[in-house]
Amino acid sequence: MALDIRIEKIAKSRVDEIDFHNIPFGKVFTDHMLEADYVDGKWTNVVIRPFANLSIHPGNAALHYGQSIFEGMKANRSADGNPLLFRAHKHVDRINASARRMCMPEVPEELFMEGLKKLVYLDKNWIPDVAGCSLYIRPFLFATDEFLGVRASETYKFMILLLPVGAYYSAPVKLKAEEKYVRAVQGGVGEAKTSGNYAASLLPAQEAKAQGYDQVMWLDGKEFKYIQEVGTMNIFFVVGNKILTPETDGAILKGITRDSILHILKDKGYDVETRPITIEEIMQAGKTGELKEVFGAGTAAVIAYVSELKYKNDIINLDAKQFQIAPMLYDTIQGLKTQTLPDKFGWVEEVTADEPNFAV
Ligand SMILES: *Cc1c(COP(=O)(O)O)cnc(C)c1O
Repeated sequence: MALDIRIEKIAKSRVDEIDFHNIPFGKVFTDHMLEADYVDGKWTNVVIRPFANLSIHPGNAALHYGQSIFEGMKANRSADGNPLLFRAHKHVDRINASARRMCMPEVPEELFMEGLKKLVYLDKNWIPDVAGCSLYIRPFLFATDEFLGVRASETYKFMILLLPVGAYYSAPVKLKAEEKYVRAVQGGVGEAKTSGNYAASLLPAQEAKAQGYDQVMWLDGKEFKYIQEVGTMNIFFVVGNKILTPETDGAILKGITRDSILHILKDKGYDVETRPITIEEIMQAGKTGELKEVFGAGTAAVIAYVSELKYKNDIINLDAKQFQIAPMLYDTIQGLKTQTLPDKFGWVEEVTADEPNFAV
């Protein structure tokens, strides 16, 4: 089925108003956005149009009952100034896994990919030409039924927004292992990138901040024993010469950065273990000095160094300047994303003038 994407261009780009050396995260949006509606069991009204407010019915089902999911990915600039997408198909798969869990319709791969390529190519001058900066891509899907009642909506809107962003975290982060609140349990929605998960994390994050910590490290919701992840990142530990990360168990978000790291580490011959990891064993490794590095991994930060880990009354300090694996992973992932390293895994896709073929 050929996809008809209507394009309405902005009269004058706002790109010249932006200082790419000083971009506040999450606040600056590009000239255009993609919008598509799901009505009568079909995707329709696919349009790329100037960025603007939406008009929403006050009885909108997503606002009341939370059928709302999203993705986060990044594009970088190629040497020719074209957008470079990184593992975009994995994001299509994941938004559709989230959609199935939240009882929402899947976004066809063709709609997602063609819409994204056209949008990102149209706004390619917004991809910062500054080291460490990139174009953040926010695809999202939400219910649009104008109806108060708990049932799956029959209509939905899929959108893609683009935001130029700088480096996410600059300083190493301090983490507190959370002993009171939980993020997700097996059988819940922790594996879905759904809005409510983030609303639920705000109070614990605020309490951790008040105690001097940047983010919460989540433990499992049954025993408070196994490490899950951190804020909006998966987590890795270097213990001795092994690299550990929790096995995804239905409650942990399956990060694409996490997956990329596992591929890179195995390719480079590191000893990697994905398995259940207890907070006790990590604190113990911290005490004996076996714990060499702790870092978070996610699209926004890519890699975030951890300088402090608190659990109960124990604190482990780490000297992020001594880390070796974490910076190697950052450099490798950035190198792949920006095509300064050869794309040996086939993860990078350059969007050029004649591709996507704008066939409709
Ligand atoms: C998005 C996200 C991650 C990281 O996933 P990436 O695909 O690497 O960006 C990890 N944990 C949570 C809770 C997330 O929402």
